[in-house]
Amino acid sequence: MGADGWHAGTGVKALRFIDRRFQLVDVPPPVGDGGKTLVRVRSAAICSSDLGMAAAGLLDPEVTVGHEIAGMTTDGAAVAVEPVGVCGELCEWCAAGRYNVCGRATRRILGFGLDGGMAETVAVNPSSLVRLPAGVSPDDACLIEPLAVCVHAFRRIEMRTGNRLLIVGGGALGLAAAAVAGHWGAQVSVMARHDAQKAAAERLGATVLESESRAGRFDVSVLAAGTDSAASEAVRRVQRNGAVLLLASFFGKGLTLPGIEFTLKELRLVSSTMYGRGTQGRDIDAAAKLLAEIPELPAAMVSHRFPLDAGEEAFAAAKDRSGGAIKVVIEPEAG
Ligand SMILES: [Zn+2]
Ligand SMILES: [Zn+2]
Repeated sequence: MGADGWHAGTGVKALRFIDRRFQLVDVPPPVGDGGKTLVRVRSAAICSSDLGMAAAGLLDPEVTVGHEIAGMTTDGAAVAVEPVGVCGELCEWCAAGRYNVCGRATRRILGFGLDGGMAETVAVNPSSLVRLPAGVSPDDACLIEPLAVCVHAFRRIEMRTGNRLLIVGGGALGLAAAAVAGHWGAQVSVMARHDAQKAAAERLGATVLESESRAGRFDVSVLAAGTDSAASEAVRRVQRNGAVLLLASFFGKGLTLPGIEFTLKELRLVSSTMYGRGTQGRDIDAAAKLLAEIPELPAAMVSHRFPLDAGEEAFAAAKDRSGGAIKVVIEPEAG
């Protein structure tokens, strides 16, 4: 859609998961009614949760996918989007800034319950817009959402400068966690399966730990891969009285921990989901600031970029980790 097609009443192109594959379909244009702001999407990234939800059959075929979103508002502001917001029903969780655990709010996440960002335009509550700091391009700002996941998780675990942190799993979330923790002064090691992931971890200043190397002594291990072998590495390599932080998604899967070792070390297990608002403000605003402060992040993390009409190829590339995929970005309105 060109600039002059902005208010056209014709449909917009959007990616939806229909008949077990991601397909580009024409959908009615989102309308900026009910006080919503229209955002022309410049970048929308594929998340492992999109793939996990698709595999588990949890994606609604009538909802546009994509919750890692950035673009331009109709009045020309460069923004990222916080895909979950308060439920608006005066609930205690939302009032406390914990809309990430409010059942009503999480049924209305963009990309899952409401139309998301893998489309030419997306309608967003003004309160869910995130102004981009100077120097951050909307072509990269889809990375703010996964950074916010890490900001929130580290807030829950009260990570401190100088903490020795092991990240088990070199996917996009593990690498984002490595970047954030390193920026905040932690000593970060990453265990990753694929060469591209190891190279990205090193580019982000982390140490790559091979599985055959000695156990190490970590204060916190971050489980950024949803496999039993990753969970057992996380428990084995964290020191007594340490913590295991769950960052991976477990759609349709259980979590198995080596129980005796977990208990004898008196480990703490900390879960975390999405992001919210704490005493320092919204996690997602802190994430936007981080993206400005870590300018090397997009080049290290974004492995592929595709136009919207190559959405199926984009999802195929995202699944192929051994083929070098880290973060795959769809660009509906490349600038
Ligand atoms: Zn995500
Ligand atoms: Zn609520």
